[in-house]
Amino acid sequence: MTEEKKVVIKKLNSAKTIGKFMADYYYGLDHAAKTGEKKVAWCTSVGPAEILRAMDFDVYFPETHSAMIGATRMAADLIPKANAVGYSPDICSYLTADIGGYLEGVSPLAKAFEGIEGPPKPDVLVFNTNQCRDVQDWFSYYGREYNVPVVGVHSYKGVEEVEDAHIQSISEQMKEMIPTLEEVAGKKFDIDRLREVLALSRECSDLWKEVLDTGAAVPSPITFFDGTTLMGPAVVGRGTPETNEVYRILLAELKERVANGEGAVEDERYRIYWDGMPVWGRLSAHAKLFAGLKTNVLASTYCNSWIFSALDPAEPFESMARAYTELFIVRADEPKESYIKNMLDFFKVDGIIYHDAKTCPANTNCRYGMPQRLQEETGIPFLVINGDLNDLRLISDEQTKTNVEAFIEQLAESK
Ligand code: SF4
Repeated sequence: MTEEKKVVIKKLNSAKTIGKFMADYYYGLDHAAKTGEKKVAWCTSVGPAEILRAMDFDVYFPETHSAMIGATRMAADLIPKANAVGYSPDICSYLTADIGGYLEGVSPLAKAFEGIEGPPKPDVLVFNTNQCRDVQDWFSYYGREYNVPVVGVHSYKGVEEVEDAHIQSISEQMKEMIPTLEEVAGKKFDIDRLREVLALSRECSDLWKEVLDTGAAVPSPITFFDGTTLMGPAVVGRGTPETNEVYRILLAELKERVANGEGAVEDERYRIYWDGMPVWGRLSAHAKLFAGLKTNVLASTYCNSWIFSALDPAEPFESMARAYTELFIVRADEPKESYIKNMLDFFKVDGIIYHDAKTCPANTNCRYGMPQRLQEETGIPFLVINGDLNDLRLISDEQTKTNVEAFIEQLAESK
């Protein structure tokens, strides 16, 4: 423990710019909801945000709120409140923590931002089940509570190859949402506006990819733990010029670090890929644990999930359907494994950590032999950490620490 306390985590200056962006975003939403100047749409994190933005909704993403509940370690107190109204402790702890917060009337937004009491009241809720079924249940709960429409895309799962039939079905489902959205927005949908938003969203995706790709430098100027908070604008702000501006600032700083040979972790010796959800309530502890072992967890499936390279203003609905179906989480094990292999190669990775998140099977990839298959093919060793994204009662810090230390020792011996 004493050793860990001495570890200094290097901060990026542009993290402040991103923090300001997020504060402005939440104040804007709060203003819209309180004054009614703009309608508010709730959207899943890899949902069709571009359509909502193009129809002038202010877009709120409950998953970022839940991640804040996790990061502020409020979840363990709130989850039981949702369990009491029938939402099992075994389902998504984003869902249970968020509904628990609603039932208790508490929110981390109130602590972080003066004058904001909690999430903005929705006028409509829009989901895409591409990530999991839990989001539909989660949004349907609030649809009933607020008596507002809930619309969504029912996506495919375990997709081997993305085929025309998938694209056609998903784009049709997106088009079918438009009449409800027009009614709530009180305005007509404009395809040219959607094209503009898509162009901005694609630019955001390209910039975010460039940011994450700087992790390939040796030493890496960025860590996965940085990425989990730096990705905020890509989640909540894609499709706006302001988002692209903050990423240009961040990218410039990271490129400067690379040019100066400056790593995010002092004396980087081992390079790790993280698969699965972060443990929000342990971000800082994990960052220090790894940095103390001269190890940089520098790339992840998670942060890369907000790269939507297929977005194309020339084919708005089809390209959105492709971008939101090509995602890692939607795919079968074979394309997932080939994706991870490319990542291991590109980021020059020494080892993989799989987070087995108890309440998120959708984002857990170590339960059906994938780690063993990938190790056999690549020779790169792995470690599975048992835990959860939000429910800290499912985590053993001591065990994590012991296992991580033993894993890094193993890497040291094999180098
Ligand atoms: S992907 Fe996992 S964490 Fe995200 S909403 Fe679904 S179950 Fe929850």
